[in-house]
Amino acid sequence: MESFEQLLTESTRIHGHLCAGQVIGVRMAMAGLQRIGIDDPKGADRKKLYVLVEIDRCATDAIQSVTGCSLGKRSLRWVDFGVMAATFVNLKNGDAVRVTAREEARALSEAYCPEIVDKYQRQLEAYKVMPLTELFLFQDVKVSLRDCDMPGRPLRRVQCQQCGDWVQDCREKEQEGHTLCRACTGERYYEVLQAR
Ligand SMILES: [Zn+2]
Ligand SMILES: [Zn+2]
Repeated sequence: MESFEQLLTESTRIHGHLCAGQVIGVRMAMAGLQRIGIDDPKGADRKKLYVLVEIDRCATDAIQSVTGCSLGKRSLRWVDFGVMAATFVNLKNGDAVRVTAREEARALSEAYCPEIVDKYQRQLEAYKVMPLTELFLFQDVKVSLRDCDMPGRPLRRVQCQQCGDWVQDCREKEQEGHTLCRACTGERYYEVLQAR
């Protein structure tokens, strides 16, 4: 794998700015990959790796940048829990580690780089050098992944019997004998004003 500095430069370029989230995300991803035995996430190991992120914040871009996993490749899944955590799965042997950013790291960061006055700048620099155990909690976990969630061609495409949209990857719902898309089961996030 590339060095921390190289990976941080790359993620900062993709994300658009350097921030504490980039530092956290790069270190989280590097530590997660190391713990599941993935050395070359964008090369030889790219088909062995699956990542679930629990938040859509700055660090998520860094995790994507370091791992090479993405929504489009279906190797990255966003689980909308709002927790600064990600789980790295080795699909080859099932090894998985969930890495959570520790809340205490914010306060602990004050012991590092005390010469930096600005709190956010200090956190950013401190997160670069703090020991992993102060930054993160590591949990060995077992992740159940459905075939419908894996990379590769869609296993199923069905048409919603109400609106006609086509639903892939087993995301349809059965309701009173009808096959429906999630929007038609009440999860619609938009209101159609006009079709054109
Ligand atoms: Zn950011
Ligand atoms: Zn529908």
